[in-house]
Amino acid sequence: MTQTITAIPAFSDNYIWAIGSTDNNHLVLVDPGDANVCIEYINTNNLTLIAILITHHHADHTGGINALVNFNKSMDKKLTIYGPAKENIPQCECPLNENDIVNIKELDLTLRVIDLPGHTLGHIAYVNSNNSTENNTNILFCGDTLFSGGCGRLFEGSAEQMFTSLNKLSSLADNTQVYCAHEYTLANLTFALAVEPNNQELIAYYQHVSQLRQQNKASIPSIIHREKQINPFLRAHSAEIKINAQKYAAKALTNNIDVFATIRQWKDTF
Ligand SMILES: [Zn+2]
Repeated sequence: MTQTITAIPAFSDNYIWAIGSTDNNHLVLVDPGDANVCIEYINTNNLTLIAILITHHHADHTGGINALVNFNKSMDKKLTIYGPAKENIPQCECPLNENDIVNIKELDLTLRVIDLPGHTLGHIAYVNSNNSTENNTNILFCGDTLFSGGCGRLFEGSAEQMFTSLNKLSSLADNTQVYCAHEYTLANLTFALAVEPNNQELIAYYQHVSQLRQQNKASIPSIIHREKQINPFLRAHSAEIKINAQKYAAKALTNNIDVFATIRQWKDTF
């Protein structure tokens, strides 16, 4: 079975991820903040929604749940909502904690849960825990924790929690495809260049993403290998980032968590 992953654009810059297969018409949605665009996608492609995966409680990720449950009910179709156990998710009957496994048989999809406190306290990600996909690709749905070239704001957690969460993601296999929930890449890379202006991979990637966005093409998914090269929030160990963070903070920063906390604060006002 070959899985397919398609972006459903929502609001101004959200991506709702639609997981399907070439073999049947079943559908799983990740973070459906807007039911209308999902229902249009379901009807246009003649699909059956069987499950929803939620990464965290923010409305632009959960706002479509109730309408999608009602949509399925009106056709007498079952719909299972998965979400973080530590957050209050509407209609969630499968609360998840770290290392829980989500098994969607219809799509031959097995995902492992990773706890990622920081953006919110109960934020989770889903990563496929085996190589069941035919092309051996690893996939990660990480909501608002890791973005391409950036990371989520610290709404609820501490910088230390977010630093630890991002380390969990950067230790995933290099070929893991990163399906984050927003098209923030170009703005993130503009900031990244201010923090690490001599990073040659970053300079080249900025040019590449600029061209993609001029053509209105998505820059997502990214891959973990690239994020480790260009994302300043995974690069607190970089000497150049440390020097620039120290200039911004106007004090000596003693460890990588302090460097991370400083650039996260810097980005908030950039
Ligand atoms: Zn959020």
